[in-house]
Amino acid sequence: MSAETIKENLKEVELRIKAACTRAGRKRDEVTLIAVSKTKPVADMEIAMGEGIKVFGENKVQELTEKYEQLPTDIKWHLIGHLQTNKVKYIVDKAELIHSVDSFKLAEQIQKEAEKKNIVCKILIEVNAAKEESKFGVFEEDVIPLIKEISKLPNVQVCGLMTIAPNVDEAEKNRKYFRKLRQLNVDIKMKNIDNVTMDVLSMGMTGDYEVAIEEGATMVRVGTGIFGERNYSTL
Ligand SMILES: *Cc1c(COP(=O)(O)O)cnc(C)c1O
Repeated sequence: MSAETIKENLKEVELRIKAACTRAGRKRDEVTLIAVSKTKPVADMEIAMGEGIKVFGENKVQELTEKYEQLPTDIKWHLIGHLQTNKVKYIVDKAELIHSVDSFKLAEQIQKEAEKKNIVCKILIEVNAAKEESKFGVFEEDVIPLIKEISKLPNVQVCGLMTIAPNVDEAEKNRKYFRKLRQLNVDIKMKNIDNVTMDVLSMGMTGDYEVAIEEGATMVRVGTGIFGERNYSTL
């Protein structure tokens, strides 16, 4: 995509984020924009970096680690896609935040690799808020027991929740899921579980990030709205 288009898209997204914050009585700096660069070339990411973007989201371990080698070290990498246990070792010291933890088994593997590297790995619990069969993530009712279990792992820190809302024609239709996730996050935070912070709510994508911000998102993951449509057929 042309540099001009990416720059214009970023301006537009920024304006919309600001407006959503204003509508919700929130400060702009309460929301982090994650530029989702999956399938897009490093050159496109460099254009976004030129506009001040520092946080990128990737959904595949291999793509993240390849780009990691090519881009400056001050970039923050977020793994937003499904993570297999056998790939944890490649990512645990590269991702600032793993958004997609949905089992104790995966958390245990993260613990093992984080311990080896003597780091604490920050994670979010992925919630399948609409109980869609095609989606990863745990159901709402299973989140608290899972977090209690994970909280005992010293090198894994649960920082909040993430959800991928249904693909809908109108963003408003996802408001109820965002609201539910926010409430769940608050409920868990009030339990004051050791080693669990619950300050992050990762929700909202190109189609619905404004509604997500109105409902309390602290991170929005925007791909198409910045870098244009993805073309999977050429990969
Ligand atoms: C691809 C992806 C996004 C970005 O989707 P867009 O609709 O292009 O903004 C956000 N979150 C996750 C988990 C993704 O895989």
